[in-house]
Amino acid sequence: MPFADIPGDATARLAEYFRNAIRAGRLHHAFLFCGPRGVGKQAFAFAVVKALCCTSATVDFCGACRSCRLVDSGNHADVWSLARAENKRDIPIDDVREMIRRLAVAPIEGAVRALVIEEAERLNHYAQNCLLKTLEEPPAGTHIFLLSANPSGLTDTIRSRSQRIHFAPLAPDKLAQILAERYNMECGAARSLARLAGGSLGLALEYAQADASGMARAVADSFALLGRGETGALEKILADPLKGDLKAEERRTALAMRIELVSLVLGDLLRLMWIEDESVLRCPGASGALGALRPHLKSEQVEETIRLAADARANLAANVNPKLIVSSLVEDLGFILGEPAIGSP
Ligand SMILES: [Zn+2]
Repeated sequence: MPFADIPGDATARLAEYFRNAIRAGRLHHAFLFCGPRGVGKQAFAFAVVKALCCTSATVDFCGACRSCRLVDSGNHADVWSLARAENKRDIPIDDVREMIRRLAVAPIEGAVRALVIEEAERLNHYAQNCLLKTLEEPPAGTHIFLLSANPSGLTDTIRSRSQRIHFAPLAPDKLAQILAERYNMECGAARSLARLAGGSLGLALEYAQADASGMARAVADSFALLGRGETGALEKILADPLKGDLKAEERRTALAMRIELVSLVLGDLLRLMWIEDESVLRCPGASGALGALRPHLKSEQVEETIRLAADARANLAANVNPKLIVSSLVEDLGFILGEPAIGSP
């Protein structure tokens, strides 16, 4: 699969830039790929790595040669990726030291070594400092790709030594077309998912697996119930992944998605209050339930609920007990969204 098969017009321009740089032998040694989750930063970084290592194509990759297959399977002897370990908040200095040690050894397969660091903002302060010297003076033929949805978590020195490239989401119509054509999704479902995922292909695929469109509608219905003082439905949606026999990390991931959907539907409620146009909604299927709730609320109340959902996500990332997060979020949202019910006949 060459660069041309990676979806998106912006990606095509980016691919051209990288092809030219590789052809001219002046590819920068350190890149910072920024952009929201699921917009293809990781896929593109590995595409560049494959183009550097491919033994079949020149300044592109074939996806089929031994080298491309080794990169795809994570077994290429000169290509490494570094990510936060499950249940860990950050990437420690020891992991970075180990990678620097590997980069110092001569390449085994060819002339290129590459390191891809996912969620680079998770490198802790010591790890970032440790990486700095290698970013400034990398061994010959070494390319480092830092991927981040939150580059403000990286030090100024790391950012200034990397070439920054921004990855934007696709237009929802374009993403819907890709979901329908490449992933055989029914057109209506593809359109809903594309809007819900805000144009992010990775997020749309995650959402498809979890039936997030249906879940978002259920969240909106549960808000309408909160308005009547009933908290059970929202609690059930949020607490559901905590009851099964999932691993701790899987529980957090499933809960994080549910809280994300809560934020998203609350955002729709606010958009509906401001603009009164259903075409701007991320979850159009929620418009009925939200429309019923809207007349009873002020926008300040909804803004407060969005802040609470953001706090819940931050607490989850900071390893706060998930049950505690669910119960306080449900209680707080119930209090605010249920406020108009107090004193009503
Ligand atoms: Zn190849």
